[in-house]
Amino acid sequence: MAKKRDYYEILGVDRGASADDIKKAYRKLAIKFHPDKNPDDPTAEDKFKEAAEAYSVLSDDNKRQRYDQYGHAGVGGAGGGAGYGAGGGFSMDDIFSQFGDIFGDSSPFGDIFGRAGGGGTGRRVRRGSDLRIKLKLNLEEIANGVEKKIKVKRHVTCDTCGGNGAKNGTSLSNCNGCNGTGQVRKVVSTMLGQMVSTSTCPTCNGDGKIISERCEACAGEGRLLQDDLITLNIPGGVAEGMQLSMSGKGNVPARGGVAGDLLIVIEEEEDAALKRDGNNVVFDMHISFIDAALGTSVEIPTLDGKARISIESGTQAGKILRLKGKGIKDLNGYGKGDQLVHINVWTPQQLTSDEKETLESLRHSPNFQPKPGKNEKGFFDKMKDFFH
Ligand SMILES: [Zn+2]
Ligand SMILES: [Zn+2]
Repeated sequence: MAKKRDYYEILGVDRGASADDIKKAYRKLAIKFHPDKNPDDPTAEDKFKEAAEAYSVLSDDNKRQRYDQYGHAGVGGAGGGAGYGAGGGFSMDDIFSQFGDIFGDSSPFGDIFGRAGGGGTGRRVRRGSDLRIKLKLNLEEIANGVEKKIKVKRHVTCDTCGGNGAKNGTSLSNCNGCNGTGQVRKVVSTMLGQMVSTSTCPTCNGDGKIISERCEACAGEGRLLQDDLITLNIPGGVAEGMQLSMSGKGNVPARGGVAGDLLIVIEEEEDAALKRDGNNVVFDMHISFIDAALGTSVEIPTLDGKARISIESGTQAGKILRLKGKGIKDLNGYGKGDQLVHINVWTPQQLTSDEKETLESLRHSPNFQPKPGKNEKGFFDKMKDFFH
């Protein structure tokens, strides 16, 4: 074990320092080296403990006197009485239970020492549980975003008592078991001397307050389970499995605190006609080869109702028409996708003898012979155009 450093040196005070100076110096170091504030520095906890040990001796007149006279030998080891020196060293819990007093509510420790067992510090704010719901949306709703009003069964604050659970909202009284601190201290004798341990008060469960007369509306719970009508503003472009959260729309905890969140999991309903492809929607259209040859105008479904599009004469099978901006809004606000109309040319599968005759007469007509030019791109070239 390395040679122990001088306690005055550790705290950075001189030998004549007043009790107040020692306390101030220790508080400063304890804040600086608190392990919660130094997660990346493995030496912080050692420094924190070293400072606590120095403080435990120098803050006690008796021990300080012995230390001044005999050095570490005067306060360390089995005979020293302090009991922290030689072998074990301080544990974090010792530090919190021993020096809880200087980490009072008004000190900067209020926040960082707010852990269970931290002596005399403020209680944590309770947070209610989150709620999770599934929300089914069709493609039209997803395309532009939608406002949905839904009923959610959740714990809400009791209006009668304002959430504290006491009759008519009267104020609560201090718990007798812990004098309102929420913690009970026990002095235990160990072979190392007397130790103080703190634990949550069993009478008030750590609240520090008790209800003398319960609110009748909520039976003292401070909250009620109710159907709450909630308006959801779903942005355009959400997708299957996405989770949105609305803060404060989950459950309120019993007897006051902050409500949890409402988590909304998106489910996408499949559309009969339109398939989603990212922010684009794809419509598969079949036209007759006569319409393809002569041209026509057809009505097709889009995300905002029917639309009429014209098919040019001489349209080849596999052509993809793009309707700009007729797709789905981008979730991050980068515009809107398109609707792609994929044209399939239908080949008749049953023909009457008259129809056969008509077609037969055209079979050798020069205009009916395939003459693919460079405008008639193959399938892969077309795909390349759309997914550049
Ligand atoms: Zn109530
Ligand atoms: Zn209590």
